[in-house]
Amino acid sequence: MTADGANLLALRSHNMALVLDLLRTAGAKGISRLELAERTGLTPQAVSKITARLRDEGLVTEAGRRASTGGKPRTVLRLVPEAGHAVGLHLERDGLRAVLVDLTGAVLGERRTSLDLGAGAEAVLSAAVGETGSLVEAFLTGSLLGVGVALPGPLDHTRGVLHRVTGFPEWDGFPLRDALARRLGGPVVVDKDTNAAALGLAVGGEGGSFAYLHLGTGLGAGLVIGGAVHRGARTGAGEFGHQVVQLDGPPCGCGNRGCVEALCLAAVARGEVDEAARVLGIGAGNLVSLLDIDLVLLGGRTVEAAPDAFLRGVRAVLDECARRLGEDAVPVRVASGGVAEGAAQLVLAPLFGRTDG
Ligand SMILES: [Zn+2]
Repeated sequence: MTADGANLLALRSHNMALVLDLLRTAGAKGISRLELAERTGLTPQAVSKITARLRDEGLVTEAGRRASTGGKPRTVLRLVPEAGHAVGLHLERDGLRAVLVDLTGAVLGERRTSLDLGAGAEAVLSAAVGETGSLVEAFLTGSLLGVGVALPGPLDHTRGVLHRVTGFPEWDGFPLRDALARRLGGPVVVDKDTNAAALGLAVGGEGGSFAYLHLGTGLGAGLVIGGAVHRGARTGAGEFGHQVVQLDGPPCGCGNRGCVEALCLAAVARGEVDEAARVLGIGAGNLVSLLDIDLVLLGGRTVEAAPDAFLRGVRAVLDECARRLGEDAVPVRVASGGVAEGAAQLVLAPLFGRTDG
């Protein structure tokens, strides 16, 4: 990773992050300094100072002029997408997906490889370093700001240390962030797969408060409350899959019985997708009534294999909940972004002030 990249990630003011985020969301058509001042509440002088510095750093450039009512045409500014890049790695139990994205989050390159998350630290680190290197070699022109890594929890996002990862308890205590940062020679951020996906969706424009439910080989949730990812004090929020919905039900991998994950995966294994969707819906209903969220998004490979059935099943349960309360049902959709894209946002989002809740 380059010195430029380190500079871009250096501590920035809150106001600069606000301006950068407005430039990011304005896209290629850009935004004028006056609009930036109006939208941030900053003075035009403060905006000019910030945009001058961003231009000096190569993050912002002119995007032409736009007519304004009654005055002279205003210069419009836009973000320079290629001014910085990030790699996002999604470590799954049996595979690794890696993406290289630019500052806007657009995917410039992608790689997939098989990976055994239980093969030991050396094998997993080598694969992560190898895939990052291949992506960078093939697609990167410019600076790499860092690498975001998303994997199943539990883990400590703040310190980048893994706990007893579901199915792979041998990772307990492993400092993945520091180990990978040493090997890559640059910043690394580690988070749960569900949190990374939720962050990616929030940065990508899903507003308000929502839950991202990820059903793959396990079941978890990423929670966005008021626009920010809610991780909890120990990155323990979103352990959605291990809520008990059937007392003395079938055993679960977590050691408890009757968890929503165990019931859901058992139904999938029996080929009863409608039943799995109903179980997922029951869990989603609990979450909606607990947190009063605006939206439920579904993702993960099990959902992607039968999206219509899962949407139908979850929607039916939420509709029924809403009917009982005499309220409008919370909408359910299939999530548009992947976990690896969200992992890249672990690096990029702080630049735009899109940090932790
Ligand atoms: Zn469980």
